[in-house]
Amino acid sequence: MKNLIRKASEAIYRSKLTLALTGAGISVESGIPDFRSAEGLWAKYDPSEYASIQAFRRDPEKIWDMLRDMDQLVSKAQPNAAHLGMGEMERIGFLHYIITQNVDNLHQEGGAKNVIEYHGNSSTLSCLWCGKHYRAEEKRNETIPRCQCGKVLKPNVVFFGEDIPPEALDHSFQLASSAEVLLIVGTSAAVSPANTIPSIAKSRGAILIEVNMEKTHLTSSLTDIFLEGKAGETIPALVSELKRYRDNPISA
Ligand code: NAD
Repeated sequence: MKNLIRKASEAIYRSKLTLALTGAGISVESGIPDFRSAEGLWAKYDPSEYASIQAFRRDPEKIWDMLRDMDQLVSKAQPNAAHLGMGEMERIGFLHYIITQNVDNLHQEGGAKNVIEYHGNSSTLSCLWCGKHYRAEEKRNETIPRCQCGKVLKPNVVFFGEDIPPEALDHSFQLASSAEVLLIVGTSAAVSPANTIPSIAKSRGAILIEVNMEKTHLTSSLTDIFLEGKAGETIPALVSELKRYRDNPISA
């Protein structure tokens, strides 16, 4: 593992454009379960039943049972060592953009500035009917948050069946085409179109480094360096190796 960390850090150190793609797995150590967890939130609420826009439009009160439970976890969650490590990696110049599928705002709270959100952010709510926006925290005391027009509010997250924000899509495809390293952290890469980023980057010559607790469909097909383990341990190990290289530069 130490050799793999060294190999990955060296690739990041030499890269002129390093991009990260993150998913729910990076926030598991902050107490927010991913979709793969067989217990907790997603055992109670099947995402295929609760996470589609059709379901929300049909019965928003029912979907708010899940959204309220999710909001309780997200509002208490703190960035973990992986979020903080990626914020640090950006600050010291070794990570240029993070594309995240998460909606929990933890990358920003962990210090990252260049974050492209594929699926929105749950810290704000909107009315699908009159378009008014609210901060989630100002509605937290309402069991079913409602707009002043009386309709049920929706968090500004992308439900299954909704489009990815076009500027996030365009920017991420552009970056994926010119990245020299793609760091893929805590995602099963099963959800489209975020899962096309690795193949775009690979086809343009990027080195793919994958951090995950277990192998994914990318591991044997596209990944160059697989770092098996918790993101909260692996990312800090990469950061300290990068600092070592920065302080004792390696030759070309
Ligand atoms: P996923 O649930 O499909 O996969 C999570 C991956 O992370 C798995 O491969 C798992 O092995 C890995 N993992 C779990 N714990 C880890 C850890 N500590 N360190 C490293 N890897 C770990 O998640 P996905 O690929 O992001 O797709 C699910 C969708 O669910 C996304 O679109 C996302 O929007 C949404 N989601 C978001 C959140 C959040 O905002 N925190 C939480 C749940 C679901």
